Amino acid sequence: MSGHEYERLPDPGPGLRLHLNENTAGCSERVLAAMRAVSRLDAAFYPDYARLHRAVAGYYGVDADAVLVTNGLDEGIHAASFAWLQCSDAGAAREAVIVEPAFDMYAACADAAGGRIVQVMPRAEFEFPTEETLAAITPATRLVFLTHPNNPTGRPVPLEALDAIAGRLPGEALVFVDEAYADFARGTFLGELARWPNLLVGRTFAKAHGLAAVRAGAVIGAPGTIARLRRVVPPYSVNVFAMAGMLAAIDDREYLDWYRAQVEASRQAVYAACRRLGVHCWPSEANFVLMRLGDRSRDVVAGMARRGVFVRDRSREPGCAGCVRLSAGVVAHTAKALAALEEALCDVR
Ligand SMILES: *Cc1c(COP(=O)(O)O)cnc(C)c1O
Repeated sequence: MSGHEYERLPDPGPGLRLHLNENTAGCSERVLAAMRAVSRLDAAFYPDYARLHRAVAGYYGVDADAVLVTNGLDEGIHAASFAWLQCSDAGAAREAVIVEPAFDMYAACADAAGGRIVQVMPRAEFEFPTEETLAAITPATRLVFLTHPNNPTGRPVPLEALDAIAGRLPGEALVFVDEAYADFARGTFLGELARWPNLLVGRTFAKAHGLAAVRAGAVIGAPGTIARLRRVVPPYSVNVFAMAGMLAAIDDREYLDWYRAQVEASRQAVYAACRRLGVHCWPSEANFVLMRLGDRSRDVVAGMARRGVFVRDRSREPGCAGCVRLSAGVVAHTAKALAALEEALCDVR
């Protein structure tokens, strides 16, 4: 496979954006105030990240040399791909294992870095394909991408699967666990870093903290791994507004707790609506729910868009035929979306 490119969606226009798992309440007031408080000189001087690295390390419970702040988690995915897949010894194959369905960026970056993509296809109900992933690992494997919890299914990766994969990898390889949605999940693999020096965890402030446009992420791993990533990330890739926003977000526990509670209530509302409407969906540990609408998916997505609610048809993703992903964040927005879903379903029946 080659020629992968990240699919940038056009702006759908005015309406409720529930197609990209953004926080539709916005960032917290305190975060906005901190970004507004950036001074003329703060803007004029190259940023120093020492304080930010200490704060982010404290937030994730690791040492400062185990963290690299990035221009969004995307930059972490990009950096890991280039650091682990770029061919230096000519001719040697470098493989990236991607457990599907998966975030587009893994294939886009692995491909751009000259890696060979090895896809692991999903099982029918998205149970984690441990055996299939182990079978895809070869001596040429350099990177395995896991998403915990998964996007678009919302399903977690079992700890036993992580252990089996990390234990099977060749010496040089890395398992990259994308935890973009870990703020909404039951667990994180940050606690496994001490056991697996070949583990790199990616986190973002885009989803739970509502900073997608600000570009604020981090990768957390063994100091040797982080040092190798620093060599491929430009020295000032995180700007002063992102730095101010991240520091304020880390201090604003209240806002995070509020949004998490909204997400939990929203997920329950989506499950209840799906039961009532006879729609199959998967229990999610993220701020979205994947549902299977079958051959109605395209019409339902269009019907919801006509009612001003944007959701994402994931039909073209492996194993996701007829599946639609609905962001489940702010309760009032979820209620509006579910009303639109019900009406759109009535239209196509
Ligand atoms: C949204 C998302 C990201 C991107 O995070 P940014 O910090 O906005 O770059 C990464 N991985 C997954 C699985 C995502 O859904």
